[in-house]
Amino acid sequence: MKIGFIGLGNMGGPMAANLAKAGHQVTGFDMAAVQIDGVTMADSAAAAATGAEVVITMLPNGQILRAVAAEVIPSMNKGAALVDCSTVDVDSARAVAAEAEAADLMAVDAPVSGGVGGAAGGTLTFMAGGSDAAFAKAAPLFEIMGQKAVHCGDAGAGQAAKICNNMILGVTMIATCEAFALADKLGLDRQKMFDVVSTSSGYSWSMNAYCPAPGVGPQSPADNAYRPGFAADLMLKDLRLSQQAAESADADTPMGQLAQALYAQFVENENGKGMDFSAMLPRFEKRHRG
Ligand code: NAD
Repeated sequence: MKIGFIGLGNMGGPMAANLAKAGHQVTGFDMAAVQIDGVTMADSAAAAATGAEVVITMLPNGQILRAVAAEVIPSMNKGAALVDCSTVDVDSARAVAAEAEAADLMAVDAPVSGGVGGAAGGTLTFMAGGSDAAFAKAAPLFEIMGQKAVHCGDAGAGQAAKICNNMILGVTMIATCEAFALADKLGLDRQKMFDVVSTSSGYSWSMNAYCPAPGVGPQSPADNAYRPGFAADLMLKDLRLSQQAAESADADTPMGQLAQALYAQFVENENGKGMDFSAMLPRFEKRHRG
């Protein structure tokens, strides 16, 4: 299949390489000068999209997605699919899908979970929004780049699933970190805390699979000086998207709001930028009540 791939950064680069490795003809474009194994580079987004059956975007945010979509949609063949894998706001995802459909294109919003390791290993999870036909067109490519794709509903449903998932993740990571810091002050051994919570009703992915305490539980960024992994500033981006969505949908999300405020403080005022999002634990270790 002829594929255009726009945004070849930490995630998009390895995703495009996997498509090329699987035998697809991939033409790429990125603002930065990058070279990706097996990918032919074009000199504009429109050029990368011309003649492609599927155009995939993997970009930093909704504003950039809207600008790139406005450029590529006119150069795409009728019936082709525009598949956005970036994490963006639900409103941008829906606006881009509407624009694409107005030009007789198919559109899928398909943000991913799994990080750079999943992108390189082809083990991402895709959560997709769009019509059945659009999802069916993109599904064989999701199979190459990932291990699971869930069709969540119409346009925007993939982004909705992504930000709801990550709001839970941000909240449970904070709860897990503050509980470890409390346990420390109560004189409870961290390994004992893990042994109990990971098999009791406090268990979660944050505790069981990504334990924020070094030397406890499976290997995680905590065992690598909190180098990401999943960076705190990306968690902040996703929490902001969840709160923006909550505001526009009139949903009450007080824990998500507090998680956003805590990650904003951590990233912007406490040197959390560039740290893994589980580095909330050393932050709580230093803090006192009141
Ligand atoms: P990145 O910054 O490494 O890559 C983005 C790329 O887009 C860059 O190479 C940049 O040069 C390019 N770009 C920016 N503006 C452009 C334009 N107008 N035209 C063409 N290219 C342009 O970011 P990333 O880590 O690859 O993340 C991409 C998306 O995936 C983001 O939306 C992010 O939230 C999401 N995501 C990232 C992770 C992760 O762990 N990194 C996990 C899940 C989802």
